Amino acid sequence: MKRNMETIVGRAACSPADEYSNRHLKRVNSSHGLTKDDSFTAGKLDKLSINDKSGSFLLPHDNRTGLIFESSTDHYDIYNRLHKERPLRVESTRTYILEESKHDLRKRCVLLPDVSSRDGSGSDYERVGDKVKMKRKLRLLDEDDYHLVHRPGYIQRLSALSESKNGDKNDGRMTERLDDEASQYASVYLRPDSFKSAKCAVEALCSLVKRVVVVHSSDEDVEAKIGNDRTIGDGCDRDCDQLDNGFAIVRPPGHHAGPSMAGGYCILNTVALAALYARYRLGVRRVMVVDWDVHHGDGTQNALLNDPSVLYFSVHRHDGGNFFPFTSSSSMRDDGTRRKRSGSSSVVGEGAGLGRNVNVAWSRKFMGDDEYRAVWSAVLHPIAGEFNPDLVLVSAGFDAALGDMGECNVTPECFGDLTKELMGYAEGKIVCALEGGYVRSVLHKCVERVICALLEGKRVDRKKKGSSKAKEGLCSSSDSKKRSPNSNSGSKKNSSELQDILEQIEPSAASSIQDTITFHRPYWKCFQNGNEGIDNDEDEIAKMLPVICTECKE
Ligand SMILES: [Zn+2]
Repeated sequence: MKRNMETIVGRAACSPADEYSNRHLKRVNSSHGLTKDDSFTAGKLDKLSINDKSGSFLLPHDNRTGLIFESSTDHYDIYNRLHKERPLRVESTRTYILEESKHDLRKRCVLLPDVSSRDGSGSDYERVGDKVKMKRKLRLLDEDDYHLVHRPGYIQRLSALSESKNGDKNDGRMTERLDDEASQYASVYLRPDSFKSAKCAVEALCSLVKRVVVVHSSDEDVEAKIGNDRTIGDGCDRDCDQLDNGFAIVRPPGHHAGPSMAGGYCILNTVALAALYARYRLGVRRVMVVDWDVHHGDGTQNALLNDPSVLYFSVHRHDGGNFFPFTSSSSMRDDGTRRKRSGSSSVVGEGAGLGRNVNVAWSRKFMGDDEYRAVWSAVLHPIAGEFNPDLVLVSAGFDAALGDMGECNVTPECFGDLTKELMGYAEGKIVCALEGGYVRSVLHKCVERVICALLEGKRVDRKKKGSSKAKEGLCSSSDSKKRSPNSNSGSKKNSSELQDILEQIEPSAASSIQDTITFHRPYWKCFQNGNEGIDNDEDEIAKMLPVICTECKE
């Protein structure tokens, strides 16, 4: 490996402007086990690339972006093989990204093995040299982990449905049972392997999250819990595992799956599970989930409604409750209480989670780049800056893209820009998960732009110590500008700035944004003139901190 390094080090003087690359390459350097004497500078590598342990070629300015693809060919609609949520969505995206993209993404990204091909047999440990290391695992999550989001009865039912009594998964009675279960939900099909496929999607996302959170974390508590000589999961050693960010291109999607129900092609709530896995198994204090799928993530909202440590932010078509998942604030539960599944802006969270559920609910179709950028500027940045997340997860559906089924007009370039702006939080620790997006040619371009943004976006390496920054809120615009790469964002908006933003977009969109701000004014200082908002609940969150790494609890 040392020889490889030497072959690519050789010419040009170090550019003083390449401090960022220097830091980045020092990490790469250490991942190769090189000594101080072997060190080199980014400038010397001008326009050259590095072949690292994982086989990826890192351009000097690239972040270390992980990709994982997960799509079971056994999860499909037997009555409609051309169903729009079918294996080809991910398969064709994989082919496009790895083989056809002009951006060399196969070489520049770290490609993780898909979950379903990992070795899950035998002992979890193996001897490597004189060390015992954790073996490549099939599972990061135990059954209990699924109960972080889903009710035990629901998981047990899905589990039972995936096991055929007579061993033949194609027998008629099995199909009948699956159809009966699916018929309880809106827009769901089930096959014997559907539950397993959904679990693989969750595992895939969590494996990325773990690589971004654990090794990237500067949090000494987490480091101490993981230990000094322990692999972190799926086969590689710690340095090799290190990722800055990632994208899980997986199916089935997840954001409509609630605690005890499937819905909208979703079976398990992939992103909600990853958020709570990061929160309660990896010890991440604050997670921000951003959902830009054209449909409201009713399942995610439902799962996280009371949790002050996870902020759910969704922008979606609502059309007064007349757009899927057709949840209006007037719908009632069986017990007569009002449903909280609504995607309207009036649903702001419950109990300790008040203010932590943010819905920007479009009232009509045709929203485009200007409207989405305005949401980021007027709502997301102020709230995110005040919330101060330690990890950002994106429910990255692309059905709001121009040309997809959501009848909105967001371009791939805009999705890339929205991603780059999110990299201004959590020191750039952002992991995306595919949700919707059904026109493959559109989907490919959108995924490509987001991956390029993850590779090329500027991460904010801002050490956060204690809670003082969070308690300060976002009301200082000079401070907030440091938090966001977008100079037009991250600050408390005075009324004239806000009016400037809103006057430039479609009037009903401006009204939707204004509604969200109005409903959230009691909970966020950035929307207030004084400081009468709630404190950023450090105490509340601390009480909920049973930091357990499932692999270190012995
Ligand atoms: Zn969708």
